[in-house]
Amino acid sequence: SARATRVLSALNLPVDGSPLCGVYDNQWRGSGPEVLSRCPAAGEILGRVTTATEEETRNALARTKEASLVVRKMPGPKRGEVIRQMREVLADKVGELGDLVSLEMGKIKSEGRGEVQEFVDICDYATGLSRSMSGRVLSSERPEHVIYEIPNPLGVVGIISAFNFPVRIWPLLSLRGINSTIWKPSITTPLTSVAVTKLLQPVIEANGLPGATISLITGGSETGKQLVSSPLVDLVSFTGSENVGRQVGQDVQGRFGKSILELGGNNAVIVMDDADLQLALRAVLFAAVGTTGQRCTSTRRLLLHRSISQKFLSMLLPLYDSLTIGDPLDPKTLVGPLHTPGSVEMYEGTLSGILDRGGKLLTSRSGRMDEGLWEEGKGGNWVYPVVIRPKKDDPCWSQETFAPILYVNEFDTLEEAIEINNSVPQGLSSSLFTNNLQSMGRWLGPEGSDCGLVNINTGTSGAEISAAFGGNKSTGWGRESGGDAWKQYVSWSSASVNYSNSLPLAQGVNFEV
Ligand code: NAD
Repeated sequence: SARATRVLSALNLPVDGSPLCGVYDNQWRGSGPEVLSRCPAAGEILGRVTTATEEETRNALARTKEASLVVRKMPGPKRGEVIRQMREVLADKVGELGDLVSLEMGKIKSEGRGEVQEFVDICDYATGLSRSMSGRVLSSERPEHVIYEIPNPLGVVGIISAFNFPVRIWPLLSLRGINSTIWKPSITTPLTSVAVTKLLQPVIEANGLPGATISLITGGSETGKQLVSSPLVDLVSFTGSENVGRQVGQDVQGRFGKSILELGGNNAVIVMDDADLQLALRAVLFAAVGTTGQRCTSTRRLLLHRSISQKFLSMLLPLYDSLTIGDPLDPKTLVGPLHTPGSVEMYEGTLSGILDRGGKLLTSRSGRMDEGLWEEGKGGNWVYPVVIRPKKDDPCWSQETFAPILYVNEFDTLEEAIEINNSVPQGLSSSLFTNNLQSMGRWLGPEGSDCGLVNINTGTSGAEISAAFGGNKSTGWGRESGGDAWKQYVSWSSASVNYSNSLPLAQGVNFEV
């Protein structure tokens, strides 16, 4: 279609159906089966990308290891300069790359651009870090001794990413340590990963680094497993579902490797009776229907104080009826399609299950959307975002369904709301809406939310890059970016140095010969 041609040609991607290589180490290759990139909004085929064979993955892993031996010798500030140059290239392409994310993943235009902007922000952050990744100097109990804690490069970071953030996740992980990276993106967003790598390749080469500093291996779960089990990968950073993450965590642990797991969320918003309801309304709507409910931080559970529940719902439900759903590339659209036909089936299955078990639908529109679409759009994965009141003991409460389905429940006290918030296996994001200082203190304190992200008067999604991002419990405990997260991407050594002529032993141990 004309819209696809415009977006693809802006990034010099083929528009005639010729296949792209999906593997990059020091050069582009890929002789495994082709994967098709499909537009979630129209169903049309956007492009074809070749995957990595087992042998190509093995070779790419070896080349990434070789690259790490070159990269580790580069001084931090010099590496910061490489990242700054990457930042310039990306900042120049925010619009083009953002539109490709919208075309291939399905998120709306401003969110696609926002994702690339986050990539740019992370580069700024990493450039600054490159001059300040410090160790420590500690005093020793032994005279004329000193102890250092020294961060050194880790080696190879393997990155496995999810479909919903096809751009942003990669640099979060790779840029802060002094490491080379090998990236296995989601099989359903191959064009975006090739486009990102092609944009950054000239920067890597111009700075005399091997291409395999930023290796790419396109493939499915088998390619992912090969990466996870390779002893050449020092750290596996995995973003994806709890089920796959559980397996990945065990496999990496089985070879005593290191992993960072960023898994599913089941995020709640609590609205107290003293809250600014207009503020809460806007926050809930964005976090529940934004990205068509396909963020790890999307709001899944809405917990309302009984005294304001009816009023809040009477404000929220009409907004669901008036949502502009349609072409993600149209700037007026608020809600795009689901990513795949499989996501639509999951949405339908979850909804019908809840209704069969006695749940009550609150929105007037639900299910597949088949009206008001432009001609090409009829082939897309369209659903209506819904609000539903499941039974209190429905299994849906403890699971993540990656679709725009919002569950509602009431509570009477803050303690009860916190108990419900904490009662699920996942622990990613949570928000409390209140104007009461005591409620705020309880929420943030030891008896408050057990999540990794604990917000007040702002929604569950839309984190910034400066604070540590990640979740607890079955979300995997990972912190992939922000705060002190960089400390996981380096190898720490504790060094005791003796600058005297004698050899005193610690803890007063005597060993005279
Ligand atoms: P997924 O688990 O299906 O796939 C994630 C990645 O793992 C893909 O690249 C896939 O090819 C790969 N993979 C599949 N099986 C594998 C195996 N056995 N070994 C190694 N790799 C394997 O997830 P998805 O559907 O792409 O993404 C949605 C999920 O990601 C949601 O659960 C969402 O909450 C989660 N997510 C979490 C965060 C976070 O920061 N916590 C961020 C984004 C997405």
